[in-house]
Amino acid sequence: MPEGDTVFRTAERLRTALVGKTLTRSDFRVPRYATVDLVGEVVDEVASYGKHLFVRTDRVSIHTHLKMEGVWRVFHCGQRWTKPRVTARLVLATDEVEAVGFSLGKVQVLARAEEHTVIDHLGPDLLGPGWDATEALRRLREYPRRSIGLALLDQRNLAGIGNIYRSEICFLRRVHPATPVGDVTDLPALVDESHRVLGQAAHRPPWRPMVYGRTRRPCPRCGTAIASRLLGEDDPADHITQRERGIFFCPRCQPPP
Ligand SMILES: [Zn+2]
Repeated sequence: MPEGDTVFRTAERLRTALVGKTLTRSDFRVPRYATVDLVGEVVDEVASYGKHLFVRTDRVSIHTHLKMEGVWRVFHCGQRWTKPRVTARLVLATDEVEAVGFSLGKVQVLARAEEHTVIDHLGPDLLGPGWDATEALRRLREYPRRSIGLALLDQRNLAGIGNIYRSEICFLRRVHPATPVGDVTDLPALVDESHRVLGQAAHRPPWRPMVYGRTRRPCPRCGTAIASRLLGEDDPADHITQRERGIFFCPRCQPPP
């Protein structure tokens, strides 16, 4: 699942391709917006917030979310698409390029003034200009009994972390992912680490995981075999869509709480 750094870099690519350009074609391949036509509109801005992407014209904001499989590609006009046409959900074309969103998890056209409704509930964006560590801490501390592994995934606390980086951040801070938030030693340092890890992934890719996806391989710090387990909770108010996903850790560097 794409995380904040992927969305951030996608926004950069779309910005380069579209900003200041007039749309010569828009093709929404989702029933609800099939009749929306943005021809003649100029793209003002492309922005990301956490895992959410916004392409703004002076009139509307096109909100997309990659969810599990989504990806944006930019092609020169006439260039053959590198993914199946049937998976295209949205095409935004200019005189020079076609930006195509494939397998997007969400496509929504909003009035510019309504855009905030998508992100109002989210925590501070780890890759945004307004990153606010104090607010992220405040949100995390609201549920001190919740495991840090789940709290990091909840976009209402910090926006941008997915399954890969939550494992990495816990490893770097030597915190077992099942540790309750209230018992984490130096929570502010963990929040700062989150900001650093995402920033590094976004600005200096490629980035190699130390524990994620490395079950039974040696811990880069102590050589112990990396373990993985599912971390879930039966909280109906939980907004995590894929609760039961593997988290990776070193059983020696990150002792159980
Ligand atoms: Zn270790």
